[in-house]
Amino acid sequence: MPQKYGYMANRENLMKDVLPPCLVCDDQRLSYSWTDYSGEGYCMRCGTPYQLKWGELKDGETYPRLNVRLNVVPVLREFFEETGKPNGLGRFVGWDQYPDQLEGRQAFNSWTQKNHPELMEKDL
Ligand SMILES: [Zn+2]
Repeated sequence: MPQKYGYMANRENLMKDVLPPCLVCDDQRLSYSWTDYSGEGYCMRCGTPYQLKWGELKDGETYPRLNVRLNVVPVLREFFEETGKPNGLGRFVGWDQYPDQLEGRQAFNSWTQKNHPELMEKDL
């Protein structure tokens, strides 16, 4: 599907020699698309959001920086392995322009309520 902001998100990482694989889907050749949040891109395979630039980095952090809490990663991995759908956790304002992410977010919410009811939205 066409990307709302074009393919510029991947340019943020072209200058890096080695990119880490996606922490959720293990994609070695990670491809990003922008969300509606400044500097945030999502993995086009699994939907996981990363800060690619303009975010605040804490000690030792580098771009791309995961934009969900680390303790949630095992749950995101489980969801992706089970469903193959994107989790839709990027920050979107115009959901109608991201139908695949909207579908993924809805699927993730339903799946999480069933499989990890202990996980609340605030944990993401
Ligand atoms: Zn991924």
